[in-house]
Amino acid sequence: MMSIRSLAGACLSAFVALGAFAVPASAQNYPTRTITMIVPFAAGGPTDVVSRIVTAHMAQTLGQSIVIENVVGAGGTTATTRAARAANDGYTLITGHMGTHAASVPLYPKLAYHPEKDFEPVALLAGTPILILARKDFPPKDLKEFVVYVKANAEKVNAAHAGIGSVSHASCELLNSILGVKPVGVPFNGTGPAMNALVAGQVDYMCDQIVNAVPQINAGTIKAYAVATPERNPSLPNVPTTTEAGLPAFQAQAWNAIFAPKGTSPAIIATLNAAAIKALDDENVRKRLLDLGSVIPAPVNRTPEALATLVKNEIAKWTPVLKPAT
Ligand code: ASP
Repeated sequence: MMSIRSLAGACLSAFVALGAFAVPASAQNYPTRTITMIVPFAAGGPTDVVSRIVTAHMAQTLGQSIVIENVVGAGGTTATTRAARAANDGYTLITGHMGTHAASVPLYPKLAYHPEKDFEPVALLAGTPILILARKDFPPKDLKEFVVYVKANAEKVNAAHAGIGSVSHASCELLNSILGVKPVGVPFNGTGPAMNALVAGQVDYMCDQIVNAVPQINAGTIKAYAVATPERNPSLPNVPTTTEAGLPAFQAQAWNAIFAPKGTSPAIIATLNAAAIKALDDENVRKRLLDLGSVIPAPVNRTPEALATLVKNEIAKWTPVLKPAT
């Protein structure tokens, strides 16, 4: 007869054996082919740029290419719906952000996905402070004048954005509600094309993520009134904070992060998370992200669990801000 101790030992080995089988072969060898990374906005915009910088390094680590697919429309929600419905085998991922995975929730009552229920968080890639930008020849010369001008010309001015629920839309909704104005919104498929329109002087102002704005500000093709974070950004030392410039109530920082469809195996999520962290620790990747003004997440904020918490907190934060706008 088996003693209690050997019975326990047998159970333990059966458990360990089962544990080994619990990781399917497909997950153990992952990845064995090209991975598709959906970017929910046009090429050349902030989410596209951050995603390309990080995934190029991740592809080296993973030994497979990562192909970016720009899927545009409906403020990023078209692409995010597609990603939520993709096979959860680790071969279709999305670089989502504060818009697709938080601000869209209150803005789209019939959103076809839920950021928390339909995705596995993989890794936070970059924090992206928001700037108040305008076309080069927009009359106000600083933020104080901007506030007066926009209020006085509320019927005439327009604001570019990347669709309802995008970061540029949500953060300018916050700005406009603080100013008490409702400018005409001019939607684009991403702030890449919106920035082109701003540079060309076809639209008046925009709230955009810093990575899209640094090259243009440095080239003098657009105006930057302020960065909406407590501290100035090292990549733009001459741009004041909203607090310094007289509008402390406007604080906004976006973020970009990788998500996989719900049910993707924990082993695959761990492989992807480790590759993302390795990229964020690479000197060249860091330099490219920092030169564009990104905030590289601290180690404690790089886990899938930390990203899950961020998504939860961001939905809670943006819902009361954006609900009255619907
Ligand atoms: N992140 C978007 C882009 O890459 C724009 C936005 O959310 O405002 O174009």
